[in-house]
Amino acid sequence: MAETADVVVVGGGCIGTSITWQLAKRGAGRVVLLEKTGIASGATGWSSAIVRMHYTHESLIKMALFGRRMFENFADEVGGESGFRRVGFLVVLPQEDVPAARRVVGIQRGLGIDATMLSLEEITDIEPRLSLNDAVAGCWEPDSGHADGSSTANAFAAAARNAGADLRMGVEVTGVEAGGGSSVRVTTNAGDIDAGSVVMASGYRTSALLQPLGVEFPIKPVRHSIAVVERSAGFGAPHPVISDHIQNGYYRPEGTELVLLGDHDPLEGEVDHDIETDKQPPPSSINRHTARYAGRFPSEVDALYRRGYTGVYDTTPDFQPALGVVQAVPGLHVAVGFSGHGFKLSPAVGRILSDVVLGGETDVADISMFRVERFAEGDLVTAPEGYGKRSLA
Ligand SMILES: Cc1cc2nc3c(=O)[nH]c(=O)nc-3n(C[C@H](O)[C@H](O)[C@H](O)COP(=O)(O)OP(=O)(O)OC[C@H]3O[C@@H](n4cnc5c(N)ncnc54)[C@H](O)[C@@H]3O)c2cc1C
Repeated sequence: MAETADVVVVGGGCIGTSITWQLAKRGAGRVVLLEKTGIASGATGWSSAIVRMHYTHESLIKMALFGRRMFENFADEVGGESGFRRVGFLVVLPQEDVPAARRVVGIQRGLGIDATMLSLEEITDIEPRLSLNDAVAGCWEPDSGHADGSSTANAFAAAARNAGADLRMGVEVTGVEAGGGSSVRVTTNAGDIDAGSVVMASGYRTSALLQPLGVEFPIKPVRHSIAVVERSAGFGAPHPVISDHIQNGYYRPEGTELVLLGDHDPLEGEVDHDIETDKQPPPSSINRHTARYAGRFPSEVDALYRRGYTGVYDTTPDFQPALGVVQAVPGLHVAVGFSGHGFKLSPAVGRILSDVVLGGETDVADISMFRVERFAEGDLVTAPEGYGKRSLA
């Protein structure tokens, strides 16, 4: 005899814990979260956790804004610590990206976000240590910054538990079946559960779990590398988070002395279905990261390489997630495929998925373009203009 629940959420990353918390506090009934390893053991635990609102799609800007507001008031809204630091977010632009950047800033300002285009002189006023020989302009969000993936997911999990959710670690979902009537069955290594609603927040492994149901959901697990460097003595105060559109990388401060260096291109890294096995980044990627950083901050040519690590980008064909109901299986929902930019969206995704599960509609943002059926129909999300396929789009 299978156990029953009102909602089962699969996956204990920032997305699954955020959804579970929202469902539990909003009275969704018996809410069970199943996680095969531990909270934040997937992409979330390795995330650079940059919180910015620079997106080309208005829906994503709205979702990022929802998240940034929650990170700013995290202790009051959620409880616990997200690690949010409001250090500002600076984009360094080549000429070809300026029209798209202007458009983004225009949408942002229309939504009340403090975002501005910057001349080179204005960039230098904000961050005088940058070399800008190859740049023409910038964008600036003073309210953005970064948080911490592990702290955030654990805070969502604690809040969910306090709101009555049942969080089970070490429980692996082995299958998802369309149940009889109005339920969905999840089979696990610890027994089966029949639920009125199931939300898959299980990252790239969701593809294989949904395949037997005929749901086409191609996700590539791309192993992304991060280099952690210590800035040179005398550098001074940390710089803002910098998104370098020219060198295609980012530089994100960590504490007072360290910087995390990463790639913008969601496909930069090897496809690896066994990503849970820890691996060091290849020397070539460390060299790429440190050379870029020294190119942008000439004083950091001798910055000390401290360590490196890798984490997974659950990359979809259009670099955007699938969100909401799965039409073919009543009661089944997805929130996966964030392609390397899901951390900052996690507060909004929690609210959106709980809206959808509880009532079918959400007013946070229009999520129609993120329907999972788009992959089978070839109706992929495209960037409105500029920025190509980057996850920034
Ligand atoms: C190196 C790196 C840097 C990043 N930087 C940023 C950034 O700066 N800003 C940003 O917004 N985003 C960033 N991201 C992306 C962001 O971290 C992810 O989009 C986000 O963490 C995804 O969260 P998730 O909960 O969907 O996935 P995950 O954290 O991967 O969680 C999925 C969970 O599901 C569990 N699971 C899988 N299969 C099963 C199963 N069968 N049964 C039970 N449980 C299962 C896994 O164990 C895992 O814990 C980065 C990611 C990486 C790797």
